[in-house]
Amino acid sequence: MLPIAHGIYRGLVNITRNSRGAFHTASAFRCKAKTSTEENDAAAPEGEGEDNTSSSAPDAKDRSKAIPVETSIRYLKSAAYKQTYGEDFVWTQYRRNHKGMYAPRKTRKTCIRQNRISTGNPCPICRDEYLVLDYRNTELLEQFISPHSGDVLSYSKTGLCQKSHLRLMVAVQQARDSGYLTYDVPFREYDYNEYYGKEQNQKA
Ligand SMILES: [Zn+2]
Repeated sequence: MLPIAHGIYRGLVNITRNSRGAFHTASAFRCKAKTSTEENDAAAPEGEGEDNTSSSAPDAKDRSKAIPVETSIRYLKSAAYKQTYGEDFVWTQYRRNHKGMYAPRKTRKTCIRQNRISTGNPCPICRDEYLVLDYRNTELLEQFISPHSGDVLSYSKTGLCQKSHLRLMVAVQQARDSGYLTYDVPFREYDYNEYYGKEQNQKA
C-alpha cells in the first residue's frame, strides 16, 4: 500500500509543480503584454475588446474620464482601430439584443448612467470610449451619413441609443454649419411672380 500512496503523492507534487510553472509563465506573459500596451498607449490608445483579467486593471465600464477629441481623431487613424473594426463602420458589426422576433421601435434611452455603462450591450458609440462625437471628428461622423441621401442614418439601422443619436445629429449639424462637412443644398424651384408681381412679369 505504501509505495502506491507514495507514487500518488509524487504524481500530485508533479502536477502542482507543472501548474505552478504554467501560472508563472502566464503571469509573466501578462506583465509583458501590459508593458507593451503601456508603451503603445502614448502613440495610440488601445481599442475595446482587450481583456482585463487582472484585478488591478481599471474598470472597463467606467466612463467618468472624458477623452479629448484630438485623441479620438488620432485613434480613428491608428492600428488599434484598424484591428478592432477593420474596414467596417463602427456600427456594422453591432447587433441589438431584444426579446421576441421584432426589435422595439426605439433604441434604449441611454447606455451610460452616472458615468458608468449600465447595460451589457452598449451601443456602438458608448461601448468604445475613444469614439468621441464632436463636430471636428469628421471621420467618425461620415460613417453615420448615408452616401445616397446625405442624411444621418436612422438609429434603427445603426443601433445608437437615443442620447448618442441626438448628440450625433447635433455634431453633424455643427460640422455642416462650420464647414467641416459638405452637403448638397436642396434644389428649389422659384416662382418669380412672388417677388416681382404678375403685372411686371407680363410686361417683360
Ligand atoms: Zn449608447
